[in-house]
Amino acid sequence: MDRIVLQKDQVLFKEGDPPSVAYLIESGEIEISTHRAGERLVLSKLGPGDLLGEMAVIDDAPRTATAIALTDSVLFQIDRTQISERLAGTDPIIRALLEGQLKRYRGALAAMQGKAIHKNDSDTASEKLGIGKIRLESQLREALSTGGLDVRYQPLLHVQSNKIAGYEALVRWNHPERGPISPVEFVALAEETSLIVPVGEYVFDTACAAVKTFIEHGADPKPFIAVNVSARQLSHPGLIERIVARVDAAGLPQGSLKVEITESQALNYEMVEKVISLCHSHGIKVALDDFGTGYSHLTHLHRLAFDTMKVDQAFTRAMLEHPRSMAIVKAIVAMGKAIDADIVVEGIETEEMLQALRDLGCDYAQGYLIGKPQTLEELTKS
Ligand code: C2E
Ligand code: CA
Ligand code: CA
Repeated sequence: MDRIVLQKDQVLFKEGDPPSVAYLIESGEIEISTHRAGERLVLSKLGPGDLLGEMAVIDDAPRTATAIALTDSVLFQIDRTQISERLAGTDPIIRALLEGQLKRYRGALAAMQGKAIHKNDSDTASEKLGIGKIRLESQLREALSTGGLDVRYQPLLHVQSNKIAGYEALVRWNHPERGPISPVEFVALAEETSLIVPVGEYVFDTACAAVKTFIEHGADPKPFIAVNVSARQLSHPGLIERIVARVDAAGLPQGSLKVEITESQALNYEMVEKVISLCHSHGIKVALDDFGTGYSHLTHLHRLAFDTMKVDQAFTRAMLEHPRSMAIVKAIVAMGKAIDADIVVEGIETEEMLQALRDLGCDYAQGYLIGKPQTLEELTKS
């Protein structure tokens, strides 16, 4: 950081100067002023620890005020890249809020100075992105309270008995303008805030009610429902405790509910260990989802007592074409058996694939061949 020494009455920058750098006051006093009807109007007086000149650097617009040293002062110069790099890495919503504020402040200043408001005030790309996200988030909040979310159930076949043993609950958002939005998009959005908490609770409550409906309809065997929980979701304090309490309150038969944790690099062993033992003490089994993709660590299996491993469909797809992929699926099934975990293979779309699972002695099959995700009504109409 460059150090700048100003004498009393020395001008640091003037209105209309191009944006170059921002400053941090180390010592002294700086006055910020503008002109209004030919008179100088003091906007603020800044002292040690205050930041100045950052506005022009953030939105890359000419200076809208003049900075003069009231006393001998020392400042540190803050390079534009120091700010722009941080801004680029900031949450787009925060960036949009900041850019919106600056625009409004500059508009108010221009009006005060009797100037025409800058025409260059269309939304920037980052503002649009941020505002779009805020809007989507508000609509999601509304959907939660107005029944715009929905849960679909995809059947899991118990391979040996050839019976449907359970379902995976997959959340859907029926967006008023865009139609059904994939959880891949909106779960990630909800995860950025505590909005994921009510979304998760909604899915659990709906899944618990669905278990009862399946039982009332005489489903045999009594099915389980597996609910997805992301590692980010689990990091919300008290979330899993509240979920477990809701499952307890629903009074379902033991084993009716399972939790699927998506494997990710961010899997925090201690946290997941606690989650698994809490679930186990309430009769909830826990699966490791998407095994075989990206972040597969044998450490996960070695250290965490998962009851089930779900093999990702990316693997399944290659299985019949490439003997090596088949060998890997075979090894995963063998490993699952060795550690006493059930194996679910996802993405089963053809009879041929299902036959391969039978030959491998795999426990459960899931995929479009067995059934697509469907509504509870579709699954229980007799
Ligand atoms: P997942 O847990 O791996 O779920 C399986 C996804 O594969 C589902 O996509 C399902 O529709 C799709 N699928 C199932 N069988 C087949 C098949 O045979 N072929 C193909 N091509 N696809 C198949 P969906 O419903 O879009 O869900 C995407 C992801 O969103 C899920 O992946 C899960 O990680 C997440 N998700 C869904 N519901 C929830 C939820 O309630 N909470 C959280 N945290 N995440 C959820
Ligand atoms: Ca899953
Ligand atoms: Ca999966």
